[in-house]
Amino acid sequence: MKENSNIRGFASKAIHVGQEPDPSTGSVAVPIHATSTYVQEELGKNKGYEYARVSNPTRDRLQQNLAALEGGTSAHVFASGMAAVTALCTMLKAGDHVICSDNVYGGVPRLFNQVLANYGLEFSYVDTSDVAQVERALRRRTKFIYVETPTNPLMTISDIAAISRLCHKRDVEVIVDNTFMSPYFQQPLALGADMVVHSTTKFLNGHSDGLGGVVIGTKPEHAERFAFIQKCSGAILSPFECWLVLRGVKTLAVRMEQHDRNGRAIAAFLAAHPKVEKVFYPGLKTHPQHELAKKQMTGFGAMITFETGSLKHAKRMLAKVRVCSLGESLGGVETLISHPATMTHAALGEKGRKAIGLTDGMVRISVGIEDVEDIMADLDNALKAI
Ligand SMILES: *Cc1c(COP(=O)(O)O)cnc(C)c1O
Repeated sequence: MKENSNIRGFASKAIHVGQEPDPSTGSVAVPIHATSTYVQEELGKNKGYEYARVSNPTRDRLQQNLAALEGGTSAHVFASGMAAVTALCTMLKAGDHVICSDNVYGGVPRLFNQVLANYGLEFSYVDTSDVAQVERALRRRTKFIYVETPTNPLMTISDIAAISRLCHKRDVEVIVDNTFMSPYFQQPLALGADMVVHSTTKFLNGHSDGLGGVVIGTKPEHAERFAFIQKCSGAILSPFECWLVLRGVKTLAVRMEQHDRNGRAIAAFLAAHPKVEKVFYPGLKTHPQHELAKKQMTGFGAMITFETGSLKHAKRMLAKVRVCSLGESLGGVETLISHPATMTHAALGEKGRKAIGLTDGMVRISVGIEDVEDIMADLDNALKAI
């Protein structure tokens, strides 16, 4: 690819890195290389591609792009966010120990406890917003700390720089799930993390039309290992879905700006609403880690959780929304609204939810980029049902 030193800013990188015109045709959009194999000129002579599980030009382009956006040295894309987390865990050996934030995407502890624990891996869950708890949880065989910040759905913030300083003294690699903020608002690698994972399904793709995941690394062994895992276990992202993400990231900067503007306005509206008991949003001064959020993020994003008081209240209001769509997932241009206790966090069980402070009355919104007045009016109308 042609190097261009004037491609410095985030939006320019999103639009141009890996997205260079196709050298053979001039096509401005990256072609979708829908092929399973590549013809070879003679034995041992090919153009760098042999079989599409191992590598694909469309996938290469996306991987270059995402590595640049996170400031990493490599990126490898997988069929979903969970496939990316699974790939990450193949770096571990039986007996190894992982510390995980106690309030993460529900699928992560399900994978750890119900699948990977059977292979001799050990997991501890701690409140990573308290660095002292992280320190106490470290063991001789601790290899990874897996941090989600802000967390899902309570929007708790962990101090990436402080955790990285602590863990690097003990040779523990720091992994940050950056799905909620996207690289536009948070750059974990610049703060000291070793790897970043994303569900590209969310803000990176941004249009609720494809699943995907990525692991971004900083060391040569990350690049080697994840390329090898793509080849060995095969849960790669298809060329079409790579293309969807390449298309989605071109507008990441403008989408995130609008998500953030709308997010702040909706959080303020909910905080002032008489039917809402509490709002969890890092942009509010009442958020316990508002100062840390301002320090490590450049925006507050679009994810908001609020307390309606009871399951009955949540159910009533959710039945009335029209602009907001009731559904799991997040990060799309359309506003999605969900009920964590019965949807994304049902697998935690009542006890597990109670332990992290997740109540039956909580509702989570992924604020989209519609006209904010319409979202507000829709929520106001739905809240009247309480
Ligand atoms: C959705 C999500 C995942 C899992 O990603 P999939 O693409 O659904 O497999 C992981 N982490 C976070 C924070 C998520 O929101």
